[in-house]
Amino acid sequence: MDVSRRGIVAGALGAGGLTLAQATPSPANAQSPPPAATTGAIPNFAFNLGGAPLGKNKAGCWSREANVTEFPVSTGLAGVLMSLAPGALRELHWHANAAEWAYVISGHCRITVIDPQFNSETSDFGPGDVWYFPRGFGHSIQATGGQDCVFLLIFDSGYFSEYSTFSISDWIGHTPPDVLAKAFGAPAATFANFPKDEVYFAPGPVPPPLPPDPAAASLSMGPFPHRYHLLAQKPKELPGVQLRIVSEKEFPISSTMTGALMDISPGALRTLHWHPNADEWQYYLSGHARMTVFLSQGKASTVELGPGYVGYVPRGCGHYIENIGNDEVHAVVAFNSGEYQEISLTEWMASNSPQLLATNFSQPESVFVQLAKSAGR
Ligand code: MN
Ligand code: MN
Repeated sequence: MDVSRRGIVAGALGAGGLTLAQATPSPANAQSPPPAATTGAIPNFAFNLGGAPLGKNKAGCWSREANVTEFPVSTGLAGVLMSLAPGALRELHWHANAAEWAYVISGHCRITVIDPQFNSETSDFGPGDVWYFPRGFGHSIQATGGQDCVFLLIFDSGYFSEYSTFSISDWIGHTPPDVLAKAFGAPAATFANFPKDEVYFAPGPVPPPLPPDPAAASLSMGPFPHRYHLLAQKPKELPGVQLRIVSEKEFPISSTMTGALMDISPGALRTLHWHPNADEWQYYLSGHARMTVFLSQGKASTVELGPGYVGYVPRGCGHYIENIGNDEVHAVVAFNSGEYQEISLTEWMASNSPQLLATNFSQPESVFVQLAKSAGR
């Protein structure tokens, strides 16, 4: 089922405004597609990542990727859905062109990471946990529990690709043995049976538990941990919407990305807003949503997003999201800035006087006095 294509609406707004978007959101509407796109100039703001072809697929592990190749509008952020079999390792690697922000969806895993000061961290992760690796930091991920570990990786460049990461086996496998002998101070023969090509996913035994209380100085952790328990955060409550936001403020290592969990109750609206400083990349875990992106110049685009779908909002574009299903919408959201910025349309209007708004909209002041009362001001 191609939710996004079926639901896409793109077109010019006449004097009547966002007529298509004014349709009452309901599950019934979700079943009957609105009129087809009226212009090819507007990009698609949705991508079915869950239905994308498998990328890397080996040893019971797999990945699916969404970057500008698959999802052209997403120039600012890319994402990868990855699953590791118990004990399997996503090998030691780094990314040259992007930082990595991740959300663990199910299962458990352990990360290792090293920074340029040679601080290293080894930490265990479970569902609802987030990690952040600054661009270029070396890291690995290993599934630790009795089940597959599924996680979402989000990168702060749409030009990221899992196919252009730098893997340790690739580098060592393509370095002459005499150079390796000098580098390690070991006989060249030591490396004779090392893999010649990139390992990427390596099957292996489930590692033992981490020591509960490491001896002093046994770990040289950096000043900022790479793990944040996002699901455990007390959410910010909006009408029908819960937001858990993790920016650099809550998670200091995460200096170039902000993440969020967004829950929308059935029938509720994540209200009209925009982000002055960042692009927005969304992954829908459950529920059915309809998002409209306002593009200025009388243009808007509406897409429908179900489980496994990615939604994208370019920096500064107005948008809102309706829950059009019977179940809660749960989504993971990421922004390519460590500082979270948002301006809501209703707050903006409320910060202006009824007199000014009356002039702006050619309506009586009383309309805006009443709107302010409705908004509880
Ligand atoms: Mn990585
Ligand atoms: Mn937003």
